[in-house]
Amino acid sequence: MPPSSAQTGNAPTKARRRRGEGQWALGYREPLNKNEENKKNDDGLNVRDRIINVYSKAGFDSIDPADLRGRFRWFGLYTQRAPGIDGGKTAVLEPEELDDRYFMMRVRIDGGQLSAAQLRAVAEISRDYARDTADITDRQNVQYHWIRVEDVPAIWEKLEAVGLSTTEACGDTPRVILGCPLAGVAEEEILDASPQIEQIYEDHIGSPLYSNLPRKFKSSISGCTTHCVNHEINDVAFVGVRNENGETGYDLFVGGGLSTNPMFAKRLGTFVRPDQVSEVWAGVCSVFRDYGFRRLRTRARIKFLIKEWGAEKFREVLENEYLGYSLPDGPGPELDEGLRRDHVGVRPQRDGKFYVGFAPKVGRVTGTSLLRVAEIAETHGSDRIRTTADQKLVILDIDADDTAAITADLETEGYEVNPSTFRRQTMACTGIEFCKLAIVETKDRAATLIDELEKRLPDFDEPLSINVNGCPNSCARIQVADIGLKGQLVMDENGEQVEGYQIHLGGGMGLTNSFGKKVRGLKTTAEDLPDYVERVLRRFKDQKEKDETFAA
Ligand code: SF4
Repeated sequence: MPPSSAQTGNAPTKARRRRGEGQWALGYREPLNKNEENKKNDDGLNVRDRIINVYSKAGFDSIDPADLRGRFRWFGLYTQRAPGIDGGKTAVLEPEELDDRYFMMRVRIDGGQLSAAQLRAVAEISRDYARDTADITDRQNVQYHWIRVEDVPAIWEKLEAVGLSTTEACGDTPRVILGCPLAGVAEEEILDASPQIEQIYEDHIGSPLYSNLPRKFKSSISGCTTHCVNHEINDVAFVGVRNENGETGYDLFVGGGLSTNPMFAKRLGTFVRPDQVSEVWAGVCSVFRDYGFRRLRTRARIKFLIKEWGAEKFREVLENEYLGYSLPDGPGPELDEGLRRDHVGVRPQRDGKFYVGFAPKVGRVTGTSLLRVAEIAETHGSDRIRTTADQKLVILDIDADDTAAITADLETEGYEVNPSTFRRQTMACTGIEFCKLAIVETKDRAATLIDELEKRLPDFDEPLSINVNGCPNSCARIQVADIGLKGQLVMDENGEQVEGYQIHLGGGMGLTNSFGKKVRGLKTTAEDLPDYVERVLRRFKDQKEKDETFAA
């Protein structure tokens, strides 16, 4: 007879049952944490009526805390960080102690597609209601700060008048759908994914069927070969391919995501026809809704389900339980490594016109300057402006003989069409200025870093991405940058705790998919950051072999 647990002193393993993960499809419908309880109590989409009819009239103090810190997100609203609270307090204060009485508001721009009238509306809202703030995010959204709840109905009215919304821009919902800014005009395009993005938006966004997911759900759909919307790190991604019969459609990837447990998406290897995309998207989203882990927020993204199941089982469940048919196998996507993903600069479209991509510094703009962008686009005959997944902007449809003039107009506004590597490829998340999870400042630091590197290394022209994050959440994609900077408190030379960054080196996507290496102890104070990056880049330039890139 084996010794009992009492004799060995070990815990009785046989009696220990594996705890449920809160998967609805397995019968776990009871909420296992506060977020799940809030969602069960009332659908996030229902907060819209209360904002219009109650909170905007009665003011900030009338807002139910469960709405304020939960359901407001279903309409792109987060309270911003109260000014003056340093990063050391982020983890120790209660959420309400970090709350300001103003909101960050995110406008979803699916596919990154804007007309001049839409951009003008976005810009005027910034000028009139958001103290002229606006950030172009790395998910093609525009984010405002300083929004008052009293102004939200008027803002929505103005957005909706031009076909935009903040619906499901945040929260445990299907967020904005990324799309190639050059959809329909790129020379190297396999197919234009815009109709599929529009279809999903029409069919499913704002539907109560998908408004209670275990966690956020990020989508991308593109038919180009530059892969500029980073399918590798989306929850679901459709990537344009041509099959052996010459038909165009999509390969399907599921389960990518960064944050504290980064994972690249797994390829399911199916061929999805364009007319099936909306249904297949709904199928993937439904598998996530029903089988996703809801017990712990930190394990709730679809990537954890994919990690447990693998791509094969996921595909089986999708086909058998949700679609009711099998998808054929299909080819993997092509990748044109010769092109950079950011679409900055002047380049030809396939119809003989040109696009002009330009770089605001770390995505930060103002409503006033966005109004000028709308004017400049129209003056030069364009009604199509695009946001990119690299915090940049693109104007389409410029005549060949007008590219110099539009470049000059944009540069007068401070938007560089031929920027340095540093300005072109440095991104920063919101950081401590407005984000309640932040530990350190990001936007200003990154802007200073760009200025310093441009001065110190004026001839550096290698492709090189520097992504600056204010905390481990990786909103600005630290793990896939050449130099990823994760905000944290560090010790300076006097033993004082100061703002700084942990360094990840050598991350990237494309043929060289890899997460940056986090070297234990490799940290810099914020003050020393320009010196540190300069040292690394000088060493790289001195020691690199011919054709060697920073990542390889
Ligand atoms: Fe906020 Fe952290 Fe995301 Fe930056 S990475 S925006 S600090 S949550």
